[in-house]
Amino acid sequence: MQDDKYMTRAIELSRKSFERLDMPIGCVIVHKNEIVAESENYALTNKDFTQHAEVLTMLQTTKKLNSTNLSECTLYTTMEPCPMCSLLIREYRISRVVFALYSTDMGGYSKYPILTDVSLSQKYPKHFGEVPEIKKGFLEDEAAKIWIERKEMKDKGEVYKQEKY
Ligand SMILES: [Zn+2]
Repeated sequence: MQDDKYMTRAIELSRKSFERLDMPIGCVIVHKNEIVAESENYALTNKDFTQHAEVLTMLQTTKKLNSTNLSECTLYTTMEPCPMCSLLIREYRISRVVFALYSTDMGGYSKYPILTDVSLSQKYPKHFGEVPEIKKGFLEDEAAKIWIERKEMKDKGEVYKQEKY
């Protein structure tokens, strides 16, 4: 299992997002032990709330694999996927999700249990994949460093300009 390597890459991408003053989130999707797609977060940069790192990475993956069935893929993200991304993870049938930080207010796992809702796949098996295996809190401390830096920046008054839409 090379979870370390892939999450480390996702954390690098989250730093790039941060350096661009976007939300510090990065995502990597692995298929057959290879990174098939990766993305930074572009929601603030492009003023588009759908441009979460996970969404962009899933879209790249469906194009590369020419399939909407990503059941052989693992998604690595530095933060627990939000409800929007979690629903897409279920629709694209990603079978394994590894995340670092918890998002207790907006998480699609800990707050809105979309990632773990068995009824989705039971009621609508044509539309939703099985509940994915979830590895949580992985390399959490490493991923948190960037958020701590961001908070320090904000505390000093160096606010993110893009946050004021
Ligand atoms: Zn999201």
